Amino acid sequence: MEKVYNFCAGPAMIPAEVLSKVQDELVNWNGLGTSVMEISHRSQDFIAVAEQSEKDLRELLSIPDNYHVLFCHGGARGQFAAVPMNLLGDSDTADYMDGGYWAHSAVEEAKKYCAPNVVDITCERDGKKAIIPASEWSLSDDAAYVHFCPNETIDGIEIRDLPQTDKPIVADMSSTILSREIDISKYGVIYAGAQKNIGPAGLTVVIVRDDLLGKAKQILPSILDYSVLVDKESMFNTPPTFAWYLAGEVFKWLKSIGGVAEMQQRNEAKAKVLYDFIDSSDFYRNEVHSDNRSLMNVPFQLKNPELDALFLEQAKAAGLVALKGHRAVGGMRASIYNAMPIEGVQALVNFMAAFEQQHA
Ligand code: PMP
Repeated sequence: MEKVYNFCAGPAMIPAEVLSKVQDELVNWNGLGTSVMEISHRSQDFIAVAEQSEKDLRELLSIPDNYHVLFCHGGARGQFAAVPMNLLGDSDTADYMDGGYWAHSAVEEAKKYCAPNVVDITCERDGKKAIIPASEWSLSDDAAYVHFCPNETIDGIEIRDLPQTDKPIVADMSSTILSREIDISKYGVIYAGAQKNIGPAGLTVVIVRDDLLGKAKQILPSILDYSVLVDKESMFNTPPTFAWYLAGEVFKWLKSIGGVAEMQQRNEAKAKVLYDFIDSSDFYRNEVHSDNRSLMNVPFQLKNPELDALFLEQAKAAGLVALKGHRAVGGMRASIYNAMPIEGVQALVNFMAAFEQQHA
């Protein structure tokens, strides 16, 4: 079977160059006569992988020296619990900006540990889904931190402004990290499940500002405790070594193409091709206002939902897979993360145009 363009929201595409390098060195990595999966995480060879990947990620995101980078387990949902348990300190509340499915899921988990101040930041603008400007978000005085999700993977909503606060800003960047430039120094904690722009599932990246360590609740499991993970250099227990190595290869690839600035330009070009096409058509529509359209996840609906199944079937036959929208939104969703080349987006648009011609 020929290689397909995979629009899955996660686990998502991995750059083809990275996959073929990994394949080449799989059974005999680094001349060791074994794969990287089969060596100790404490060996010199693996420690070199760990150090290089952190160095490359720091360079890609210009991470200041007063931030720690953790490579850990548990996914973004693990962080939904880790964040309050690490950061609440003596406070029993934190501000949670609710802009969509994932921000809302973070709230549900946080409720186990505190009484979150939940702010619905969604609105309607010109008949489309949008987000209230950050200057109008009502934050509370006693919050330990302000949590938000800059890119809602399911809703296809992106928030480009930041909460206006002196409190630590905590961001779930699972589907936005490395897609565009960000100023890390504005955040207290950034976390991301790896399975979109970083590498395979199983790895979680956390970037935490130094002054936020040391406030963890006594009952916090050690594997989620930022201070323990910093202290043990993300090797308190056995880390997901293969996913970590593969993430390191993705970072090298990203550096080789020109880093995050170049990636952002490519991502903007890709998203423009798709949104422009959808906007020019009466057959497809996207419900999100242009102020908040996601660069990474593009949900779209067919005017006639009875054609959804046929659309998916024919798209798959054309080598365009995993386009079914999340059940919460319906319709289609094209996730166009870093590894999706513009040719994939062009192929999707060509297919959509041909399908429209056949069925309009
Ligand atoms: N947050 C966002 C923005 C996500 O897209 C996802 C996964 N799709 C999650 C959290 C949950 O991540 P995980 O499965 O790694 O816990």
